[in-house]
Amino acid sequence: MIPAAFDYYRPKTMGDVIAILQEHGDDARVMAGGHSLIPMMKLRMADVPHLIDLQAVDGLNGITIAGGRITLGAMVTQHDLINNDGLSNAAPILREAALQIADPQVRYMGTVGGNVANGDPGNDMPGLMQCLDAQINLIGPEGERSVAARDYYEAAYMTAREDDEVLVSVEFNAPIGGFAYEKQKRKIGDYATAAAAVQISKSDGKVATASIAMTNLSDVPVWSDAAAAALIGTACDVDAINASAAAMLGDIDPSEDNRGPVAFKRHVAAVTLARAIARAFDRA
Ligand SMILES: Cc1cc2nc3c(=O)[nH]c(=O)nc-3n(C[C@H](O)[C@H](O)[C@H](O)COP(=O)(O)OP(=O)(O)OC[C@H]3O[C@@H](n4cnc5c(N)ncnc54)[C@H](O)[C@@H]3O)c2cc1C
Repeated sequence: MIPAAFDYYRPKTMGDVIAILQEHGDDARVMAGGHSLIPMMKLRMADVPHLIDLQAVDGLNGITIAGGRITLGAMVTQHDLINNDGLSNAAPILREAALQIADPQVRYMGTVGGNVANGDPGNDMPGLMQCLDAQINLIGPEGERSVAARDYYEAAYMTAREDDEVLVSVEFNAPIGGFAYEKQKRKIGDYATAAAAVQISKSDGKVATASIAMTNLSDVPVWSDAAAAALIGTACDVDAINASAAAMLGDIDPSEDNRGPVAFKRHVAAVTLARAIARAFDRA
């Protein structure tokens, strides 16, 4: 599988990236780790006459934790997420999730920005960012703007980002309480059949706050306010967990594919969420 011919650019500044995007419009695309884009180009599912490599652009690699706010540069890799001790203390759900993405070789290259920007329903970071109520920071010809992760995804591969904008970072408050990222997949290295990101805080033995997002169960990640609401004020017993799972099932819309029929996916989604809730509550 060989991609169609393309011009390769390796700019050093964001200004140059945006200038190339503006010059070539739809014909230009940025590349981060290339672990989704290059396979799509090889399969001829993406036609990219002008490929802009972000690897040499300054300022996209940092992980910052300050005043309870966490910022991840777009070019931070999944390997970086796993191996940053400060981040693992401040937001351990990121490490738990990143360890379930693909395999070490892919995680050396796959980036936060690429995973969040891609818009593939199977990517794990978008649901995670919705669970954490992250802001997605973009830059383009008109300057910088932020979009809430919960408003960012419009349809499969369609997001709020304009063609001439680049994702520079994601940021969110350090989460409180317990966490779990639970993922059901067919084999190591596979995308999720279903995955659940859960953050729960406790007060007097009851759920005080909860946030729940599901992956690969719709054409966009699903942040389920109803699933979280079903837990608030409960002791997270079996009835509460079942009510939460039932509420989540009202928000997802899976379709049949080689990971199974709709009924199977809904069953797996409920089991996956129940496990994640129980683990997050235990840890809270
Ligand atoms: C075998 C295999 C298994 C995998 N399994 C999983 C899995 O289980 N879960 C999972 O979540 N992922 C999985 N991935 C995907 C991988 O983890 C990467 O996260 C993914 O490829 C996106 O990151 P990237 O840096 O490679 O992006 P790229 O492939 O470089 O880019 C992806 C898309 O995002 C755009 N883009 C990239 N960076 C930016 C930016 N800063 N601003 C604007 N647009 C941008 C590109 O133009 C492109 O459209 C797998 C990949 C492989 C090859």
